[in-house]
Amino acid sequence: MDKKQIYEGKAKVLFEGPEEGQIIQYFKDDATAFNKQKFDVIEGKGVLNNIISAYMMEFFSKNGIENHFIERLNKREQLVKKVEIVPVEVVLRNYAAGTLVKRYGLEDGIKLSRPLIEFCYKSDEHGDPLLSEEHILIFNFATQDEIDMMKKTTLIINQILGDLFDKIGIILGDFKVEFGRVTENGSTRLILADEMSPDNCRLWDKETLEIMDKDRFRKGLGSLTEFYREVAVRLGLEKELEE
Ligand code: UDP
Repeated sequence: MDKKQIYEGKAKVLFEGPEEGQIIQYFKDDATAFNKQKFDVIEGKGVLNNIISAYMMEFFSKNGIENHFIERLNKREQLVKKVEIVPVEVVLRNYAAGTLVKRYGLEDGIKLSRPLIEFCYKSDEHGDPLLSEEHILIFNFATQDEIDMMKKTTLIINQILGDLFDKIGIILGDFKVEFGRVTENGSTRLILADEMSPDNCRLWDKETLEIMDKDRFRKGLGSLTEFYREVAVRLGLEKELEE
């Protein structure tokens, strides 16, 4: 059966789901960085991100963080709740890296005194600029209650994800999450959406400080899927990888 495509993003394609209020996320092998200036196709990346993200979303649900994930359908697809995505990327940083270093001239890799939350406008056309809470409110991207919920949830995610990675010898440098509105029985609430994979985190091996995330692509280090696979194996996902 041909599924109806709703949207194609940089790393995923969204299709209509089997039921009202559901969509299918298809994970592509495409890799982009620096606002699409760098592009490549990395065979197997989509499969790894689908498996890792499904695991993470289930882990979040078990820890009381409501999210859009319903079930993984196959190697590249997962069924999720249809949400209205808030056009705000929520970034949490434990260490200085990437654009934080570029913007403020901090030393790469230093630990911040406490977790830093940043908001960015989800707009490739405008280069994902930083947003203050005032921007978010005045542009009607989200209400104050929604901003508070996003901050609180992101801090909890950092805590539980940081602990999970710590147990498997990985440092969680930073990550990005997105939220969406879901309407059920006449009331609307915000839930975690999108994905959680090495494409949207910075992960470093605790012993060797080896990069285990999308910075392998950004920095041209190669072997990206080997490291994503290593993350999956340490999470105990060998069986899923064999499928
Ligand atoms: N990030 C992301 N999508 C984006 C921008 C950032 O998933 O569009 C993630 C990125 O992988 C990193 C964190 O958010 O884990 C902080 O990224 P940063 O702002 O340093 O930007 P980048 O290095 O992606 O240019």
